[in-house]
Amino acid sequence: MDKIKFEDLPISNEIKKAVIEMGFEEPSPIQAQSIPVILSGKDIIGQAQTGTGKTAAFSIPILEMIDPSNKNLQAVVLCPTRELAIQVSTEIRKIGKYLHGIKALPIYGGQPIDRQIKSLKGGVQIVIGTPGRVIDHINRKTLKMNDVKMIILDEADEMLDMGFREDIETILSKTPEDRQTTFFSATMPKGILDLTKKYQKDPEHIKVVRKELTVPNIKQYYIETRAINKLEVLSRLIDVYNPKLSVVFTNTKKGADELVSELQARGYFADALHGDLKQTQRDIVMDKFRNGTIDILVATDVAARGIDVDDVEAVFNYDLPQDEEYYVHRIGRTGRAGREGISFSFVFGKEMRKMRDIERYTKTKLVKHDIPSVADVEEKKVKAFFEEIENTMKEGNLTKQLQWIERFLEESDIEYGVVDIAAALLKLSLGDEKKEEIIEEPSRRNNSKGNATREGMVRLFINVGRKQRIQAKDILGAIAGEVGIPGKVIGTIDIYDKYTFVEVPKQNAKKVLEKMKNIKIKGNKINIEQANKKKK
Ligand code: ADP
Ligand code: MG
Repeated sequence: MDKIKFEDLPISNEIKKAVIEMGFEEPSPIQAQSIPVILSGKDIIGQAQTGTGKTAAFSIPILEMIDPSNKNLQAVVLCPTRELAIQVSTEIRKIGKYLHGIKALPIYGGQPIDRQIKSLKGGVQIVIGTPGRVIDHINRKTLKMNDVKMIILDEADEMLDMGFREDIETILSKTPEDRQTTFFSATMPKGILDLTKKYQKDPEHIKVVRKELTVPNIKQYYIETRAINKLEVLSRLIDVYNPKLSVVFTNTKKGADELVSELQARGYFADALHGDLKQTQRDIVMDKFRNGTIDILVATDVAARGIDVDDVEAVFNYDLPQDEEYYVHRIGRTGRAGREGISFSFVFGKEMRKMRDIERYTKTKLVKHDIPSVADVEEKKVKAFFEEIENTMKEGNLTKQLQWIERFLEESDIEYGVVDIAAALLKLSLGDEKKEEIIEEPSRRNNSKGNATREGMVRLFINVGRKQRIQAKDILGAIAGEVGIPGKVIGTIDIYDKYTFVEVPKQNAKKVLEKMKNIKIKGNKINIEQANKKKK
């Protein structure tokens, strides 16, 4: 099949001119496939990965369809976050640069509503908003839906994940029945199919296959490290690679906050971005990140959607993502705008399996990376320090300092050389703390054979397993909850059909056996005992 060009699409010359000016040489596959269908008036579900140009896929048809002589609201785009609403609105304005009489406005929580009301009164035909704020305006009658011909749900999967379903349904039920309804999403969970059935008319499902998924200019590494060593490993990687900006992903908000405190305590400039922050707080964090006041952003998946900063040089999966698609979203924060990027995923034990799933899904192989040694970090620091010294010498203006050193040499009782002084200064400046090497035994990749228990750990047997729909988190939760030990000290959990093995630290074993004796896990009375010692 020949490549489709913008020329071939039934769109106006003004829009063609604008997209070419934006540097789009040809429509991306999702654009080539969706634009004609949306323009024909059909409802569609457009499914394609992040970064495949979904925004323009709906923005172009919106702009084609708006009647500039009608100043009423004609199209509504719903987005999960403020960042995305702004991004989409910016893109619509760029694409519509050569069209006249069309106004687009982003509306979102966190911005004074009065200002939005004032802007809306000026006659806005396209609104790009977060669901809550859109409802707010509908209720205040500052958004009138009667003339709305098109409604778009952007990042529909994410909006459902964030609990916007009810809001979305409210908005959909308040728009005219004869509207066109378009969903764009990276994934197609059941929730979306439900909405589709209820609110779309005979929709066409346009799905772009995963070819786009490979991200060739990102070097993807994995590092085997146990939870307790992650912070140290992360610090070393940052010291060695010294990325200009980096994004570190955790799976929970709490995890993000904790990591930020730990990094700050070590002197790094880090801050957190997650769903608990108010919009204004998020804006502050993003501004700090963009202008380099902080260079490490610790984020959760939801909050990191749409982070569009070109200088991110490294992404760290501090926690491996639960969903393979999240992995792609995450590492896609680096290697943007044709630059090179690097990503590190921290994995251990059971997580290796998840990693293999990710590899299968992305059709790429993650390359093993060793934990940087103390010597690596030291070498890097010393090198950077010498570079600074060289620059300072090149700049000159050292007369005063030279005089001090000469005086020191003259007055000192012992015979020092200048080199001794330099060495002492180096020590003072970089410190000389002794750091322990991290020793990670390789984790076991499969749990069928050779399950040697790790040193200091005891293996326990529990008589429930997959048949009882037991998952690692149930075991972890039960032990941590009943016994009151932190989940992270619990070792490998191997779940079989009818039983489970779990490793706990030796010193906790007795307590675990006592406390767990009469409890239920997922409604199943359990029996727990020390596992048979494996004969060598
Ligand atoms: P998605 O919504 O699918 O995640 P975006 O719409 O945000 O993707 O697009 C990702 C990037 O690709 C943006 O920087 C956008 O400007 C750019 N882009 C979109 N369409 C094209 C195209 N046809 N050619 C080149 N770049 C494009
Ligand atoms: Mg998008």
